[in-house]
Amino acid sequence: MTGPQKTGPARLGPGVLSYLALFRFQNPALEKSAAAVLGRLPPLAGAAIRIQSVCGLRDRRGPVHGGSFLRERRIVLDCGPTEFQRIFAHELFHFVWFRVGNAARRSYEDLVRAEWRAGARGELGWSAEWRKGRLAPRDIEARSRRWREYCCESFCDAAAALYSGIRSHREFTLAARFRRRRQEWFARVVEPRRLSI
Ligand SMILES: [Zn+2]
Repeated sequence: MTGPQKTGPARLGPGVLSYLALFRFQNPALEKSAAAVLGRLPPLAGAAIRIQSVCGLRDRRGPVHGGSFLRERRIVLDCGPTEFQRIFAHELFHFVWFRVGNAARRSYEDLVRAEWRAGARGELGWSAEWRKGRLAPRDIEARSRRWREYCCESFCDAAAALYSGIRSHREFTLAARFRRRRQEWFARVVEPRRLSI
């Protein structure tokens, strides 16, 4: 854990500064890293989200780096500085997915369904990858809960891979041609809009 540091707000663009105001950081030292992520995103709109740091975060399967509480407007993070941008972007995109609308969600489903049919292995994060590994053809046919959870995590992991500024990571296992298609999808569907969070 690092101590509080000056974030140098005067050096951030006015747009990023106003998006940064959407977040309440328990640890202000994280603001500068968050600003770097926000600077790569389309404009954001919504009520403030609290960002809390905790130790020993787990879900029902074991240790995790982050979690989102959409209705409480709260993100909890348990990660070091090297993973912060990727995890912050992932959790932030849970809020985006929730509000992005059915048309965009169904369009993303179509994209990953086409990947599945093309036999694409791997993902852009462990959260999506283990869920993908559990899917059976009937999940996809029936758009089961497993399938919809996978689509959500895949969307958040893809966004995190795109906007964290990290080019390679041990969890980026999806082939480059599928990764490019996802990038094109985000450029076409997500980036032209103002994102409600
Ligand atoms: Zn997630």
